[in-house]
Amino acid sequence: MRNRFLKCLITSTHLHNKTKMYKTEAVAKTSKDSKFEKITIERGSTSEDDVEIDVKFCGICHTDIHVALNDFGGTIYPNVPGHEAAGVVSKVVWTSRS
Ligand SMILES: [Zn+2]
Repeated sequence: MRNRFLKCLITSTHLHNKTKMYKTEAVAKTSKDSKFEKITIERGSTSEDDVEIDVKFCGICHTDIHVALNDFGGTIYPNVPGHEAAGVVSKVVWTSRS
């Protein structure tokens, strides 16, 4: 998997109590010893102070591999690696505060 680019979809992860959830596909490991597989995950819809990004590509780096394999401990499965992404901002939600 190293140095392979995977197309995936992610959005900001700042969730709020009133956030509506939606389902999307992701490439994940479901356990330390599983292979990467396509699964359906729930994500929070864009809400206050969020930026939605239509991710076109994301990479899998050295750190992602170690986290996916739980080499640092504490990995929560399913694990969807890929924190280095390139995409287009598709929505900005900003609420002015007084
Ligand atoms: Zn990285």
